[in-house]
Amino acid sequence: MSSSALPFFLFFFFFFLHLLLLPPCCVCCSRHLLLHAGAGANSSSSLADMLQVTHGGANGSVTDGLRRYLARFGYASSAPDDADGRVVVSLYQSTLGLPVTGRLDAPTLDLLATPRCGVPDLQHSSQANATATATARFAFFDGQPRWARAPGHFLLTYAVLSTPPYQPLPLPRKAVRGAFRAAFARWARVIPVRFRETRDYNTADVRVGFLAGDHGDGEPFDGPLGVLGHAFSPPSGQLHLDAAERWAVGDLDAAGAGAVDLESVATHEIGHVLGLAHSSAPDAVMYPSLKPRTRKAELTLDDVRGVQALYGSNPRFSLSSLSEPDTSSASASAPAAAITRSPGKKTTIVLLLLLLC
Ligand SMILES: [Zn+2]
Ligand SMILES: [Zn+2]
Repeated sequence: MSSSALPFFLFFFFFFLHLLLLPPCCVCCSRHLLLHAGAGANSSSSLADMLQVTHGGANGSVTDGLRRYLARFGYASSAPDDADGRVVVSLYQSTLGLPVTGRLDAPTLDLLATPRCGVPDLQHSSQANATATATARFAFFDGQPRWARAPGHFLLTYAVLSTPPYQPLPLPRKAVRGAFRAAFARWARVIPVRFRETRDYNTADVRVGFLAGDHGDGEPFDGPLGVLGHAFSPPSGQLHLDAAERWAVGDLDAAGAGAVDLESVATHEIGHVLGLAHSSAPDAVMYPSLKPRTRKAELTLDDVRGVQALYGSNPRFSLSSLSEPDTSSASASAPAAAITRSPGKKTTIVLLLLLLC
């Protein structure tokens, strides 16, 4: 090494040494993002108030507010004499894949406070299909209703409505249409059913719209977070989303706290439109809960097996082509990106030092 190169070498040596000894900035930032986003994701204070989980959790008891909340999703009638609520809490935990403790422990309170679909969890025939396996978590509605059309590929039309009684679209129409087009395509890929958007609202098989509060079907929406949407089993075709949510498409990192991914909820509710009830597999699209700023739109094996049990398989689809579940969030993706970048930077630094030496 020549003497003229020595200053450059010393500069780069100490500069890279500084980088190696200090924690990577991206990790610091990602931890900050994680904490910030986590606070936003769990800031559903109105929901906590409604559930009265603060007092109930501290005492280990189930309050009347929590009983009403659980009853709304089908968990009450099975335990009429459950004075301390352990039975109904155990039922909630076992149905949704939580450790069954019978107590309002941290995982249970976290799930209770997580926004979810308004369709009850227990008004269906659980895995009542001959094709279901011991590991299947999918479920159907009572009687296993499905769209009954001619065998083979058939067509369902859908319309996105925005005139009264539906609310104006919360995002540009192009963005809403794109989210639903992608959501319908996920299901069409795995079953022999095609979906086509139509402007003929009166004849559309599936009618999609944003509604607010009590909108006349006995399932009122509750404002931001809480219940995000609901849909009815075949052949209703009604798919309703809560107009009070902060709906988002695309970049969830840029979405504000409390934002809800439209495409993820659309994919879930279309599953109901096709005849799937809630799955107890937490990774499944048909699991009822979805944290804010979280994307969960890719069908899992459980979702695919469930819907194929109703409609058969799209002949062009192979289970081996199923990708890993796309479950990501603004809070979760940041540290993952930081972790992948950090070793890469250190590897580059080591290589540079070796070359310089
Ligand atoms: Zn649902
Ligand atoms: Zn409704």
